[in-house]
Amino acid sequence: MKTIGILGGMSCESTALYYARLNAGARARLGGLHSADCLIRSVDFGVIEAMQARGDWDGAGAALAGAAKGLEAGGADLLILATNTMHKVAPAIEAAVSIPFLHIADATAAALKAAGKSRPGLMATAYTMEQDFYTGRLRAAGLAPVIPGDADRAETHRIIYDELCLGETRPESRASYEGIAGRLGEAGADSLILGCTEVGMLLDGGNSPLPVFDTTLIHCDAALEAAFA
Ligand code: GLU
Repeated sequence: MKTIGILGGMSCESTALYYARLNAGARARLGGLHSADCLIRSVDFGVIEAMQARGDWDGAGAALAGAAKGLEAGGADLLILATNTMHKVAPAIEAAVSIPFLHIADATAAALKAAGKSRPGLMATAYTMEQDFYTGRLRAAGLAPVIPGDADRAETHRIIYDELCLGETRPESRASYEGIAGRLGEAGADSLILGCTEVGMLLDGGNSPLPVFDTTLIHCDAALEAAFA
């Protein structure tokens, strides 16, 4: 098993989900007391979020590139960045390391295509829904993402930062997300990307009106595939 480097803390709530999924996957493969061989570098999300808010993507990229170098120096054989949004600075991170970097949008696109889906709805932060770094990557993979309308994008973003990243899961927000997912289906989506690593705290296959593709779980499974290759 290779050592998986996890660049996380964005937020810490979703990094805990990554850790659980990776360990469960390693145990499922190897049995007994086996668990994932991994390194976690968990940054202070308050610092990163402030950089996002003031548009200092170069600063955030430099900070995450430095953290990624630390993971490589610490012995990671491959690297995952445990947030969709910060893949905006993926080029800076990839340039800083020589170990393989598993892009979350590539893993997600592969899962959608394997399932025969082509028009995924996308629920994510405003950065991820509205900027080209993510939807462009999906389009380059041959997919046609469906983005929520203005009010639904604002509500999706608000719940991520004001609740989910703080570990809060509210029934009214779950209902709100179910409604947004339903409207994406009415707009022609054939599936739903949980395109923020915390959205799975409110939506899953049990309450989504569309087939769900949870980027957290897909990303972990891709990392396990690579770690056991
Ligand atoms: N974890 C989130 C994501 O997947 C949002 C937090 C962040 O801005 O990194 O996009």
